[in-house]
Amino acid sequence: MQLTLRTRRLLAGGLLALACAAAVLRLAGPGAVCRAGDLTDIPDDAGFLPRAQTAEADGQKWVALTFDDGPSRNTGPILDILAEQQVPATFFVVTAENNENWLPLLERIQADGHQIGLHSCTHEYSKVYSSTTDFWADIKALKEKLAPYVTDPEALTWLRFIGGSTNTISHRYGGSRIMTRLKEQAEERGYHSIDWNVSAEDAAGGHPDAQTILRNIVKDAKERNVCVVLMHDTKATDTTVEALPDIISWFKENGYQFCTVENLPR
Ligand SMILES: [Zn+2]
Repeated sequence: MQLTLRTRRLLAGGLLALACAAAVLRLAGPGAVCRAGDLTDIPDDAGFLPRAQTAEADGQKWVALTFDDGPSRNTGPILDILAEQQVPATFFVVTAENNENWLPLLERIQADGHQIGLHSCTHEYSKVYSSTTDFWADIKALKEKLAPYVTDPEALTWLRFIGGSTNTISHRYGGSRIMTRLKEQAEERGYHSIDWNVSAEDAAGGHPDAQTILRNIVKDAKERNVCVVLMHDTKATDTTVEALPDIISWFKENGYQFCTVENLPR
């Protein structure tokens, strides 16, 4: 099944079906060609989140909606929809220059009962993944920039690696073992890292329309009882906002319960 999905994805005209694809293309620099295989593909459930298997066995259906790379002008409308639908979500945030005007929205994210997760300060692969030291310096800078807007930055212990935990772009900068070392260090430092098993592919080139985003999600989600859905709340992902009510309706109609990442069943 994984091979089938992967093959289908690679054949889909080279579309980058993965996290942060647009940002990678923008930030990796001229000449740094980004291939689909460089980024984390849909992980196997077996290695993705062991505790989720319990829920699979129990037949419960859970979905954690996640939004990466915000906040941006699209975060407010997303929060409005989540409030209207009474649905929690998790935001893996960035504090790069183009996010800074929107950081006050972090207060509302927490006040509305959503989870804030750590993603990156700069989101620049060449800096973040130059070494493990550079990675943790980026996380420290991220938490410092979040501090004025969140209750307790040290309480933010969930992180999502840029490009996902098995990306290979990082190898260009930090060597082939950097992700393995970072995952070990994250665990030692008390962090939980999480990828996804459902992708909206909303950061892919060509700005997919709302119907395509919904279709991408349903394609990945329909055979899973526990879904961690990767979406983006950047200024470029207007169609994610447009698709969100229908995405939520699909999960409700199919019997899923919504939760934040930290509240996924244990
Ligand atoms: Zn990202």
